[in-house]
Amino acid sequence: MATIVGIDLGTTNSLVAYMDGDRPRVIPGKEGRTMVPSIVGFLDNGLVVGDPAREHLVRSPSRTIYSVKRFMGKSVADVAGELSYFPYVLREKGGVIRIQMGDKTYSPPQVSAMILKELKRRAEAHLGEELTRAVVTVPAYFNDSQRQATKDAGLIAGLDVLRILNEPTAASLAYGLQRNARGIIAVYDLGGGTFDISILKLKDGIFEVLATNGNTHLGGDDFDRRMMDAVIRDVRDRHGINVDDDPELMQTIRLEAEQTKRRLSDEPQARMTIPLPEGRGAYERTWSRDEFETLTADLVEQTMAPCRLALKDAGLETGQVDEVVLVGGSTRMPCIRDRVQALFGKTPHCDLNPDEVVALGAAVQAGILAGDNTDMLLLDVTPLSLGIETMGGVMSVVIRRNTTIPASAREMFTTSADGQTSVDIHILQGERELVTDNRSLARFQLKVPPLPAGTPRIEVTFLIDANGILNVTASDIRTGRSQSVQVKSSHGLTDEEVEHMIRDSFRFAEQDVRARQLIEARIEAEAIITATEKALRRGENLIERDEAQAVRHAMDALRAANAGEDHRAIRSKITDVEHITHHLAEVLMDATLKDALENKKLSEVRE
Ligand code: AMP
Repeated sequence: MATIVGIDLGTTNSLVAYMDGDRPRVIPGKEGRTMVPSIVGFLDNGLVVGDPAREHLVRSPSRTIYSVKRFMGKSVADVAGELSYFPYVLREKGGVIRIQMGDKTYSPPQVSAMILKELKRRAEAHLGEELTRAVVTVPAYFNDSQRQATKDAGLIAGLDVLRILNEPTAASLAYGLQRNARGIIAVYDLGGGTFDISILKLKDGIFEVLATNGNTHLGGDDFDRRMMDAVIRDVRDRHGINVDDDPELMQTIRLEAEQTKRRLSDEPQARMTIPLPEGRGAYERTWSRDEFETLTADLVEQTMAPCRLALKDAGLETGQVDEVVLVGGSTRMPCIRDRVQALFGKTPHCDLNPDEVVALGAAVQAGILAGDNTDMLLLDVTPLSLGIETMGGVMSVVIRRNTTIPASAREMFTTSADGQTSVDIHILQGERELVTDNRSLARFQLKVPPLPAGTPRIEVTFLIDANGILNVTASDIRTGRSQSVQVKSSHGLTDEEVEHMIRDSFRFAEQDVRARQLIEARIEAEAIITATEKALRRGENLIERDEAQAVRHAMDALRAANAGEDHRAIRSKITDVEHITHHLAEVLMDATLKDALENKKLSEVRE
């Protein structure tokens, strides 16, 4: 059977591992290093990934992409606060971030796919076989769009992603396999860009994730930035150089700060030297570990609240945790080890290489999928609650956060207005009460026969598969009519777009999306035109002549836009028609209600 590899697609570094007999192993590159820096350089003579790209961070910062994982499944608005730290230009197209490189733009899944391809190449060279299947890890806190974006990246790279695995779950697999631990385990994972805490239960070879929490915007990069900010201020004060105007110098400082931080994990003091431009000498400074720890103490402290919350969700006290596992390069910092030990009152485990644990665990999961290790079952949880919008803009939860997946749940809903002919199913993710505070995942409509409010019975079923991908079905119990949707991220790529990209090497992807958006807008416009014509026929003599005229004008404008190629123009005219027919719809509803009441009276008289 062909090998399935396990891939840790990290913010800073990525790794690929496989099962060598019953032992997971990380695959090294030619030069023996196991980590591939998650960096892609777009050079004039081609693309470079990993270590060769790292050099270009300084030489051509605006053509070198790093930390792309931070942008997976996100919009520009989501990352607005961080933009000044990135030397490359981000644009937004159709809700998806695009990274500008010369006259081309790339989506985060496309860039991640370049890193995955490099890992695939490395593994194929090492194993001497073609690889097409993989398990890829993501932070436990990744939402649906980020998971989907990761799957898309795999597809673009020619890898069938059999399973998206939470990073802390992977780490627990790596440890569980080697030590057969039982009891409650806290996995504390501080990587380059994300922080995750997971509370796991290990028993008889079964891993159950009891709770997860974390912060997708906290990691080693933030520690680097603290040091960078201090250096940038110093360089300005001492040398009169504005680093903001010099992307090359900014990158040199970033790399040097990161190296100095690493040295401080082993030594009480570290000296940094940064050459300044135009022969202005060098900036030098000696950092003490104490000084660095004071500067970053609040970052360490920020990891504590998620730990306490996860414990609370799991219904546990700190004293009930049997073992603590450290994952991620940043857990090499002594201040992290000390703080984690103080919180849980236990010496944390760090016997596996914290940079490799996740990839090793992904390989173990790949082994389970390949049937190598069938006596091990893996349970996972959904990190955020999922539900739908109900009356008054409130979210009604269907599947609670921390529910073990795969999972399914169903709820009954009904209509809120008399004569309603369709129900809007708006799928949401989050923990807040109000719809506006949660994340909108998808919307669709279910047609229902016009009946008095509260009469139809609509069953909504949520099904989450093992990858955390959600399928929602709404059925009208009375008519048996049903409608379903696989929840795709609003920011991610569509299946069609991904397939198209694979076929045409990224060339026509955008045209494809635009075409689909146009088709969808046209279908909706046709439906609105038909419905409005019908409403006008029924209600024309119930409204003023001017109003009917205005409705006709709006419909003409929609027809004209519909003949064009611009989906945004069509959408805008659809909104106009909806707006202008609001009153007509109300009038018709009143009339229907009146008829219904009169019929009722008549039947009462007859009785
Ligand atoms: P990961 O995403 O797990 O590879 O973590 C990478 C992060 O760990 C980066 O922010 C690194 O700077 C950081 N890191 C790696 N080694 C050390 C070290 N010895 N001391 C402090 N931070 C480190």
